[in-house]
Amino acid sequence: MTPDVPAAEPRGELASWEAPPHDCQLCPRLAAYREANRQANPGWFNGPVPSFGPRDARVLVVGMAPGVKGANRTGRPFTGDHAGILLYRTLIDAGLARGTYLAEPDDGITLQDCRIVNAVRCVPPANLPESGEVATCNRFLVHELAAMAELRIMLALAAVLRACGLSPSRVKFSHGAVHALPDGLLLADSYHVSRYNTSTGRLTAEMFAAVVRELVRRLASEAPALGVTP
Ligand code: SF4
Repeated sequence: MTPDVPAAEPRGELASWEAPPHDCQLCPRLAAYREANRQANPGWFNGPVPSFGPRDARVLVVGMAPGVKGANRTGRPFTGDHAGILLYRTLIDAGLARGTYLAEPDDGITLQDCRIVNAVRCVPPANLPESGEVATCNRFLVHELAAMAELRIMLALAAVLRACGLSPSRVKFSHGAVHALPDGLLLADSYHVSRYNTSTGRLTAEMFAAVVRELVRRLASEAPALGVTP
């Protein structure tokens, strides 16, 4: 298996950090939806949701896009909607986060050796970004990967392989699978921690915990962990 290279720039050698401006207009449909949300809910974050967690982390959790009443409202990935409950609880149990998840960005949660990003930074209507929007926002994910000099493992939640620059025809998604990528990276697959998946039983808490435990086991078996215990 020879997947496409996920980042166009050598990791750790990025000269300057690049993140989208709060009023990014690169995706007209998403910018219009964001503006409509601002009009309707001016107290919400309503902008490209920034990544969360230390940039020198070895684990990067990659979700697809913010939820309208979750990260789009609160400004922190996976915070404020159903998906965040399972994600943050599992990260806490595995030692990749500390604190108590209270579904608000000021709940004091800190990530340990872990960072969370969305492949598409702005909330899409009906939770569905278009392929062109995924491609447009990919420039920021590329910078994200390039800036993470210590990155070892990406945890891809469902259909974000293409957003990571990986062709689904070359890296076949399979829940629980761990793929070896060029440049020494590992890519772990998991069904998304969405309400739909958990309510239908496609993803149980134990299934997701098993994936995260495997990441921690692999981290613990190599370089000294940053506060991570197996
Ligand atoms: S999704 Fe990304 S590229 Fe598109 S408008 Fe938002 S920040 Fe800009």
